Amino acid sequence: MRVFKFGGASVRNADSIKKVATIIKSYTDQPLLIVVSAMGKTTNALEGLINLKGHDYENELDQILTFHSTIIEELFEDVNPLAAELQSIRSIIAEQLRKSHTSTEELYDQVVSQGEIISTLIVSAYLKKIGLPSIWKDAREYISTDASFCEAIVDWPQSNSQIQSLIEVLNKNIVITQGFIGANKNGLTTTLGREGSDFSAAIFASCLSAESVTIWKDVPGVMSADPKRLPTAITFDELPFREAAEMTYYGASVIHPKTIKPLANRNIPLFVKSFDNTNLAGTRIHECKIDHLPPLIVFKDNQCLISCQVTDYTFIDESQIGIIFNALSARSLKVNMIQNSAISFSFCLDFKEEKVLALIEELGKIFEVYYNTGLTLITIKNYDTDSFNKYKNQTNVVLEQSSRSTLQVLIKSNPSIAGEL
Ligand code: ASP
Ligand code: MG
Repeated sequence: MRVFKFGGASVRNADSIKKVATIIKSYTDQPLLIVVSAMGKTTNALEGLINLKGHDYENELDQILTFHSTIIEELFEDVNPLAAELQSIRSIIAEQLRKSHTSTEELYDQVVSQGEIISTLIVSAYLKKIGLPSIWKDAREYISTDASFCEAIVDWPQSNSQIQSLIEVLNKNIVITQGFIGANKNGLTTTLGREGSDFSAAIFASCLSAESVTIWKDVPGVMSADPKRLPTAITFDELPFREAAEMTYYGASVIHPKTIKPLANRNIPLFVKSFDNTNLAGTRIHECKIDHLPPLIVFKDNQCLISCQVTDYTFIDESQIGIIFNALSARSLKVNMIQNSAISFSFCLDFKEEKVLALIEELGKIFEVYYNTGLTLITIKNYDTDSFNKYKNQTNVVLEQSSRSTLQVLIKSNPSIAGEL
């Protein structure tokens, strides 16, 4: 059997959904499980709603529902087969926004998950309308997680046993389910982290021993850089699992970082294919050895560089580094680059404003802290002489580091704020 994943961009309007259906139609020679994300920018719009809790959110909620009903009208012309479902989704969201929760993250997952619920209902109903044997399944009955809302950890044994029940269903039906969402032991909805639908596809594929997973995207495959930034970027025909996993670690957003491991462990190949041009071969990520990969360039914007200095001329030692890492880990913040010197320890991380400012304040009680925002981290993996020289010799470099295969430079990009604590 195969697993397909369609992201938000591939279900952003009625035409794209029709295209999804055409793609699915040409792959019915084998059982198929299809993971779908929320449509277009729905997840962002739902995030916006959460910020309106306690205020007037009706307008924004109406806009989200109208966006979906317009698509439904275009797909189904006369009868709207999902009117009742849309109404019930409206009530669920409104109720969650009224209720109190143990944390904002818990509220977030209850509301944002509705984006995937609506999109899969629409896709499944449309496939049925055109005569495909689709069946809608609620991913929360299959993917079990702990209760860490927003970044839930998958309970593999539990999920695996639940997912087995799909084998029989798949023999007769095309299963349509949601990416990104699961449920905890108490039946509350959890999410797997932004862009987590790729990971959901990998979970289903791994538990079902799928033949392959295909992620359909708005790019021709995995490319050597973001083509919007570097128009000369090339598409890889194939990549080893390890290489693809490292790319996601450095911030390549083409695949969610957690996707590769479950597939590599079971040796299930992952295809990244163009949704717009299905004739292109795309990229095959699998167990292979490639001698000379061209340089791969990853840009990670919105970085913050923090330097902690000891105030009394003692050197930075392990216990002080321990304090810094404990503070980072307590806030689930991930470091992207580190540099250590005698009296200062510097690191760069994604500038998640609220969390990072709180971290800076905490560290400021112990160290002299300096920070800069508005930075971009450029990683050049498998560099050659040309790319090494090009990226090393820039004027606005704040920090740089190189190993035998990878060069990383942190540069000033946006208007930045610099601060001292
Ligand atoms: N809809 C979710 C998001 O936008 C999950 C996904 O697209 O993979 O983050
Ligand atoms: Mg998305």
